[in-house]
Amino acid sequence: MEDNKHKQGPEEFKSPSWLNYLLVALFVTFILNLALKANLKPKEIQIKYSQFLELLETGNIKEVEIEDSQLSFELNSGADVSEIKGIIFSEESGITEDEWEQNFKDKQVYYAGRVYDPLLVERLKEYGVAFSELIIETNLILDFMYYWIFPILIMYLIYSVFIRSLMKRMGQGEGGFGSMMNVGKSKAKMYNVEKNTGISFSDVAGQDEAKESLVEIVDFLHNPEKYLDIGAKQPKGALLVGPPGTGKTLLAKAVAGEAQVPFFSLSGSEFVEMFVGVGASRVRDLFQIANKQAPCIIFIDEIDAIGKSRDNQLGSNDEREQTLNQLLAEMDGFDGSKGIVILAATNRPEILDKALLRPGRFDRRIIVEKPDLPGRESILKLHAAKVKTGDLINLKEIALATSGATGADLANMVNEAALRAVRMGRGQVLQEDLMEAVEVVIAGKEKKDRILNEKEKRLVAYHEVGHALATALQKDGTPVQKITIVPRTMGALGYTMNMPEEERYLMSKNELMAQIVTLLAGRAAEETAFGEATTGASNDIERATKLARSMVTQYGMSENFGMMGLESVQNQYLDGRNVATCSEATGAEADKEVKRIISGCYDKAMALLNSEKEKLAEISEYLIQEETITGEKFLQILKQS
Ligand code: ADP
Ligand code: ZN
Repeated sequence: MEDNKHKQGPEEFKSPSWLNYLLVALFVTFILNLALKANLKPKEIQIKYSQFLELLETGNIKEVEIEDSQLSFELNSGADVSEIKGIIFSEESGITEDEWEQNFKDKQVYYAGRVYDPLLVERLKEYGVAFSELIIETNLILDFMYYWIFPILIMYLIYSVFIRSLMKRMGQGEGGFGSMMNVGKSKAKMYNVEKNTGISFSDVAGQDEAKESLVEIVDFLHNPEKYLDIGAKQPKGALLVGPPGTGKTLLAKAVAGEAQVPFFSLSGSEFVEMFVGVGASRVRDLFQIANKQAPCIIFIDEIDAIGKSRDNQLGSNDEREQTLNQLLAEMDGFDGSKGIVILAATNRPEILDKALLRPGRFDRRIIVEKPDLPGRESILKLHAAKVKTGDLINLKEIALATSGATGADLANMVNEAALRAVRMGRGQVLQEDLMEAVEVVIAGKEKKDRILNEKEKRLVAYHEVGHALATALQKDGTPVQKITIVPRTMGALGYTMNMPEEERYLMSKNELMAQIVTLLAGRAAEETAFGEATTGASNDIERATKLARSMVTQYGMSENFGMMGLESVQNQYLDGRNVATCSEATGAEADKEVKRIISGCYDKAMALLNSEKEKLAEISEYLIQEETITGEKFLQILKQS
């Protein structure tokens, strides 16, 4: 996929680095030359012009050489030293006794500054002194080379050898010195453009729901007129949400490939530089270029790097905020009918700024989950087709062993297996290579990712089915939509997706109790099936306790306290913390009341599950097999007798 990729930068802002460099070098050289000139001292054996004339008139000079700015003259060999001293070492000359002793005493050649004196030649003739003009060879070109070109070259050498490698090293840290120096330069290679990604939906296995949502975008890029005719506005952007390696980039490329439009991609973190305003100007450039190339796809990876919520941090980051604002402005500003679609990827949707998710921006959210069993099998099939395999490979077995692995993990496993086959001197990948690769990839990643082992998988399945069963068995509970035991990145090992039938603002006491029972049913299921407790229920317990406490302290739903309020909510719009408004003794009583509610609900959960022990086992086993169970299937198993 790398082959038809080339870098392109915005034409308008090309600011070549060599020009910057030359300017700096010229400046430094200029300063150096100035310093050199300032350092030129007058010659030590220099006297005044008037003194020169005096020496001339007293007949002490033998020969004079006239230069551009000075005269150098030789004294008569038989000159009287004391007479010369008398002339030079006079009151107004400024030459001290010491200087005379050191510099002048034994010298024959002295200098004097040349004064404009039309009579000089006449005077020299008058005293019979030989004179000549010295022709100094000044080679302008050589001088120029010496004073200007040479230092610049030297500086370039130093720059290229030392400083650049230094900057490279420093530049690795984000926003370091290096990136500071690179501001002008890095614009040019900020994003990739692929004229044709050459990837289609058939290159993405599993992820059928995500693909379905994207098909419409492809259709829009193909024939926008169809949508314009009826007056429909197409979404300008869609957010691909999911853990790393699940194929978000691949999907975005597939959209571009299917629609046969150019694919611009860049990473959110590349936007944010040290200087305020750089990111914003980059966003502007990007949209300018994209506008020229429309229809096209712009893909922003790691959008959370710029789209971080603006209000939940101490000390704002001006640069990020400006970049985000520019992005929002551009998204609002561009003409959606032109056929530019922005796809963005993130694995932390919860921290995104709400403004990004408003209608007309990234209003579509496409969930890209870790693949379930059939998904993994098809991903394996797809990647295994790219390597030579033996006849007897069983990809289902591999898929079974890799619960929780992402598409990227699976692609990696197939590659590892192929490498192992080569190491073994075989021309084909065998099942044992694949099994071995699973271990390498899982063991290598044990800490990073959660891949459940067999026992954990069973526990999680029973736990989740416990929740769902409790919901289904209680009248007031909402029906389940889907249960999966594919581990999430958000921390849960599995989850039960409940679907409320309508939006609710008020809850009755019975509904709240039912909710607590449902929350506690996860642990209850573990207890019923395995007779032991695990740490998996911590979040459930926290939520159940919070609900029960609110019932007692805020909603007036306990027998002991009746309608008495024991807590009030402070800072409702910030952290929404509850603050006790009662005495400590009453608080302790309230705790007891909370405990009573919780244990009552737990007993109820246990009773519910014990009455349907077989169904719990049956549904859980199904879930362990399939990893995902829909609400319909769930009810079907539950209802059949
Ligand atoms: P993300 O952008 O979600 O981090 P990528 O799209 O970069 O993940 O996926 C990395 C690689 O993993 C892809 O190049 C592909 O080889 C493989 N991969 C991931 N998901 C799938 C999938 N659903 N089908 C086929 N290959 C996949
Ligand atoms: Zn739970």
